[in-house]
Amino acid sequence: MPESAFLENRHALVTGAARGIGAEIARTLAAAGARLTLLGRQRETLQRLAGELPGSGHGIVVADVADEQSVAAAFTEARTARGPLAILINNAGQAESAPFLKTSAELWQRMLGVNLTGSFLCAQAALPDMLQAGWGRIVNIASTAGQKGYPYVSAYTAAKHGVVGLTRSLALEVAKKGVTVNAVCPGYTDTDILRASVANVVAKTGRSAQDAMAEFSAGNPQQRIVQPAEVADAVRWLCGEGAASINGQSISVSGGEVT
Ligand code: NAP
Repeated sequence: MPESAFLENRHALVTGAARGIGAEIARTLAAAGARLTLLGRQRETLQRLAGELPGSGHGIVVADVADEQSVAAAFTEARTARGPLAILINNAGQAESAPFLKTSAELWQRMLGVNLTGSFLCAQAALPDMLQAGWGRIVNIASTAGQKGYPYVSAYTAAKHGVVGLTRSLALEVAKKGVTVNAVCPGYTDTDILRASVANVVAKTGRSAQDAMAEFSAGNPQQRIVQPAEVADAVRWLCGEGAASINGQSISVSGGEVT
């Protein structure tokens, strides 16, 4: 079956879809035929993107992924409007940095909340539909920070390691049910998160933005920043027919930064 036919009309929900990697994943899955629900916090931006996506029947839901009730209400709304969930892309995330001794308990909880608990809550909300259908795909956008450590982002790194652990365990739990669960782990990618990190380095060290960006690129063995479309293409492949045996994996999209 051609890939476009395989994803045709499958209901895919992408969290944090308003911009960056999530928006690119939404465009890519819509181009492959899926019917999208875009989940995020900014109604107008989500609505604009939904209207621009290829295909028809796409929609939006507004929710904070770290809030249990907000997630439950959003998934009910998405299911009522576009049918049972077949694909979940847990992409919403934040990456705030701080030296370990300046990492407040509030920052720690916030990083765990959006990056880890958010993935847990959304997977719990989507999985019953997939089990009922005997088919589903969950792709968690973790990070190379889920595969190795980086200084000054201990909360984010702990959360993303947690996402990789969640991926591995859930993958085994649903392995016989037609559902796969995988993580995609981007290295530094050209989005607002990276631009904020560059601005932070500039503010804290007085170095130029160009210097700071060069240092981020240098961490990638290909000496470059990853593009959102490269992450989205890995996600599309994991959602496709040919990836049925790929389960519980954490695929690094980082030019070989993690091997
Ligand atoms: P981004 O451009 O900052 O986009 C993040 C998205 O997540 C935004 O749409 C944001 O929505 C949404 N979001 C944040 N907190 C949320 C919450 N509590 N509830 C619902 N939505 C929320 O960042 P990005 O680079 O595309 O990041 C996407 C994912 O890739 C994240 O999980 C990130 O950790 C991961 N990642 C990024 C990089 C990188 O270098 N860019 C590298 C590795 C992994 P609002 O518009 O409402 O803020």
